Amino acid sequence: MEQTETLKRDLHPSYIELSKAALKNNLDFLRRKAGKGVTISSVIKGNAYGHGIDTFLPMAEECGISHFSVFSADEAVKALQASQNPDTHVMIMGMIADEAVEWAIGRDISFYVFEFGRMEKAIEAAKKTKKRAKLHILVETGMHRTGFERKELDRVIAYLKENREYLKVEGICTHFAGAESVANYVRIQNQKQRFAEAVKRFKSEIGPIPRIHAASSAALLAYPDTIYNMVRIGIAQYGFWPSREVYMLLKRKDRREGRDPLVRLMCWKSSVMSLKEVEEGEFIGYGNFHLTNRRERIATVPVGYKHGYPRNLTNTGFVLIRGERAKVSGLVNMNMITVDVTDIPNVQKGDEVVIIGKQGSQEISLASFGELANNLNYEVLTRLPVDLPRMIV
Ligand SMILES: *Cc1c(COP(=O)(O)O)cnc(C)c1O
Repeated sequence: MEQTETLKRDLHPSYIELSKAALKNNLDFLRRKAGKGVTISSVIKGNAYGHGIDTFLPMAEECGISHFSVFSADEAVKALQASQNPDTHVMIMGMIADEAVEWAIGRDISFYVFEFGRMEKAIEAAKKTKKRAKLHILVETGMHRTGFERKELDRVIAYLKENREYLKVEGICTHFAGAESVANYVRIQNQKQRFAEAVKRFKSEIGPIPRIHAASSAALLAYPDTIYNMVRIGIAQYGFWPSREVYMLLKRKDRREGRDPLVRLMCWKSSVMSLKEVEEGEFIGYGNFHLTNRRERIATVPVGYKHGYPRNLTNTGFVLIRGERAKVSGLVNMNMITVDVTDIPNVQKGDEVVIIGKQGSQEISLASFGELANNLNYEVLTRLPVDLPRMIV
């Protein structure tokens, strides 16, 4: 059943709006940073960082993106289903089972290889499908997660040369171990150098390679010499900084960037479900988490931990109602929260509630979901449930 936007809004207790204007703004900024002739591969793993592959991908296509990076084969399926553009290309950066290699080649999906076993599978499958496998050779430069070691490269090159008929080297790539923090500066410098050496070697042995890529959002912004001819951009396209450090670095380098050049795409909204006056000295909700110390007006909002609203925001989180902040008062439940609206005049059942994003001049940032963990943005975003409806505004 096709759900119209209005129906989605009526059926679901909360929903996520995605701003196309914000995406355009961010891509313009990132294209400026990447420079002419550099492909931006839009990283859409983790259900497009919680933005929803189904909704996000066609919108990104309309903004001129035709290369998408996913982690695993199931995400590639989703991406191809959502795509409206026959020229869109999908690249798998991580997990693909041996059994799925033939499927990927048949659908023209390119994928990372970092083990000889996968290359052998690719040859077998290429023979069967009578199509060359499009490979991205992942080289180990210091991340120590996946990737061919330096001492294996001779064998990799020989293998690729021998099997040219079946294997096409679509790309050569690596990934940096924490370009978002200056604490990793030396490690990144070493990785950059090892990658440059590997690229040189491959080019001289194999010939031209269509896509050479290493940079994620942080590397693009903090280490422009990692750009090559493609960058893999996740978090920044959605309007979030990889870390506060990267933002400060950019501000220092470019004083013209007065305002934040990235705009958040996402606004997570719900509405007031019910209201209640509670006398002074009463507990609200389960247990004894919140004791009223005056007569309080309490609104229930149908969003809970089931929907990705963190339980540790009990008594500490805020939402926006009528352009003002209302504090979560009492335990975060599975499907709802209770918020104190005593000081916000005139709150009515059905009023819009913003859980993440802007309302009037106020904003609830992702970071305010908990300030401490470094990569928290990534985690909160990808925990947003798949079944929350997303719609473009
Ligand atoms: C997630 C990921 C990216 C994108 O990282 P961002 O920091 O979100 O830009 C790039 N490359 C690889 C291999 C990744 O796993």
